Amino acid sequence: MRPPSFSYQRLSSVAEAVQMLSSTDNAKVLAGGHSLIPALNQRLSQPGTIIDIGRLNELNGVSVTGSSKLMIGALTPHAVVAASNNVRRYCSALATACGQVGDPQVRNWGTLGGNLAHADPASDPPTVVLAAGGKLHTMGPNGERMIDAADFFQGLFTTALQPDEILTAVEIPIVADRKSAYAKLAHPASRYAVVGVAVFLNTENGSCTNASVAVGGATAKPTRSAAAEQALVGTALEDAALDAAAAALTNEIQGDAVGDIYAPSEYRAAMAGAMLKKAVRAAMV
Ligand SMILES: Cc1cc2nc3c(=O)[nH]c(=O)nc-3n(C[C@H](O)[C@H](O)[C@H](O)COP(=O)(O)OP(=O)(O)OC[C@H]3O[C@@H](n4cnc5c(N)ncnc54)[C@H](O)[C@@H]3O)c2cc1C
Repeated sequence: MRPPSFSYQRLSSVAEAVQMLSSTDNAKVLAGGHSLIPALNQRLSQPGTIIDIGRLNELNGVSVTGSSKLMIGALTPHAVVAASNNVRRYCSALATACGQVGDPQVRNWGTLGGNLAHADPASDPPTVVLAAGGKLHTMGPNGERMIDAADFFQGLFTTALQPDEILTAVEIPIVADRKSAYAKLAHPASRYAVVGVAVFLNTENGSCTNASVAVGGATAKPTRSAAAEQALVGTALEDAALDAAAAALTNEIQGDAVGDIYAPSEYRAAMAGAMLKKAVRAAMV
């Protein structure tokens, strides 16, 4: 299918892009194009103007700020996030998730910010950013905002981003001695997550002192699991504890799990437990 006609603008700074976005009716930002262009071709999205921010180098790259934050520019491609030594060191779950997105072409063109802004329930990075306690930095006509991931993801393809805002960066807190991992059951063709689970764990003397667990793919938006977290904390993360945490996660999301032609809701809820066990074991290696 062919996209509807639109006017196209490529801008050279975030300020210019925000100005154009806020002064143009029915405009959409284009980053890597790997979700927007298919949506245009299927006429699921029909913007009058496309604002191409894909070449704004100021939004591309990974840095560590004051040894307490990992900052990732919104236009950083998945492949660059996956290969970054800083991401591997401080948030290995995100490196794993970005390294498992689609195929090499998607990872080289698709951007972390585009993925988070699109909020596809089957995406990988939102689940990790939520479990990590990440924050999303935005720029709009009224200036900058910083939104907790827990408030950012609001539902199916829905975020707290305003139509005239641009996502500029993702902030991941660096927590001493925190280990993380991401495990997904991938759709065999697209590699999108049928279910994906991210875990962040701290241990002391072999006992889990802090756990953050989020699940994606199984639910309309990435979701933290308080029940799984409670089941892990205070244990030695032995098999019985993982079985209990997996059962708690499955039980907690059962009512919210989504079913479609790829997988019924019961299967997704059950696989969430299996992915949790896989992620915890990977984090503790
Ligand atoms: C074949 C295929 C397989 C895929 N497999 C996976 C997978 O396994 N896992 C996974 O997670 N994803 C997968 N994806 C999606 C991929 O990760 C996309 O790159 C991503 O969803 C969108 O990023 P983008 O840079 O291409 O954004 P675009 O397509 O350019 O934009 C997507 C949406 O976000 C908005 N947007 C983009 N950037 C910003 C910004 N900085 N600020 C505000 N709004 C913005 C756009 O206006 C648009 O609405 C797949 C895609 C394809 C085509």
